[in-house]
Amino acid sequence: MKMSLKSYQEIMKNSMLEEDPNGNSELEQTFTSTKKSPRWGPQHKGAQELAKLYGPGKRLQEIICVYTCITLMIIDLILILKHIHFERLSVACMSAICGIITADFGSGLVHWAADTWGSVELPVIGKNFLRPFREHHLDPTSITRHDFIETNGDNFMVSIPILGFLAYSFNTKSPQDIQQDFGWISYLFLCSIFVAMTNQIHKWSHTYWGLPRWVLFLQQYHIVLPRKHHRIHHVAPHETYFCITTGWLNWPLEKIRFWPTLEAVIEYSTGCKARDDDLKWAKKMT
Ligand SMILES: [Zn+2]
Ligand SMILES: [Zn+2]
Repeated sequence: MKMSLKSYQEIMKNSMLEEDPNGNSELEQTFTSTKKSPRWGPQHKGAQELAKLYGPGKRLQEIICVYTCITLMIIDLILILKHIHFERLSVACMSAICGIITADFGSGLVHWAADTWGSVELPVIGKNFLRPFREHHLDPTSITRHDFIETNGDNFMVSIPILGFLAYSFNTKSPQDIQQDFGWISYLFLCSIFVAMTNQIHKWSHTYWGLPRWVLFLQQYHIVLPRKHHRIHHVAPHETYFCITTGWLNWPLEKIRFWPTLEAVIEYSTGCKARDDDLKWAKKMT
């Protein structure tokens, strides 16, 4: 199946060898034929500089967000199970699928915005929220070395207001109103769960060893982002396939040229150049 406008050979040639994150086969080339060293990985000067910017303040924010979000997920799940009625099940399922699609689109939009615009030098958001995106392009497998807190802290933070709103609604609405809004509640719950899980799913898409069987099953049947599918994004200059939750929207968005059109409008109206900062970090070679 042709998944994108790039050929399979182009993707394999221009993205990092993730089955070989230490670049052994590329290093082999260094000793035998050319003087070329791997273009990606932990040895990249820019990646090392970016990794050092991860500090204790950021870590604390992530810990608070992860624990708050998990607490809210459990509370909301208990309330949903308490109120679910069999006759509302089909509405709940349809709404949940719409919630997952919304989460996939949201992941694409945030990922695209963070990859394409802004700079690590920007106050507050630069170091705290844009830095991981820059690091990820230079050292894609660094995500596999991040623990649960570092991987999920920021996405869990985004889900907190939605899950908090749901918990508040359950406690203030009458049982009749809850039944009437059950489709809407299922939509928001699944959307926030998938938003929260996005970077964990993304981490799995970069993991080539030791994945549990059920994760491999979800990837194989494209219920979550498959590894081969995400590799299309990791071809420089990282300008397509931004959706990283399920990846269901990547192909249709590519077909309608959604991202280049959006970029052209922004470049025209602001004068900013897409991926300027990302390119600057990519050039920081040893
Ligand atoms: Zn990216
Ligand atoms: Zn990635």
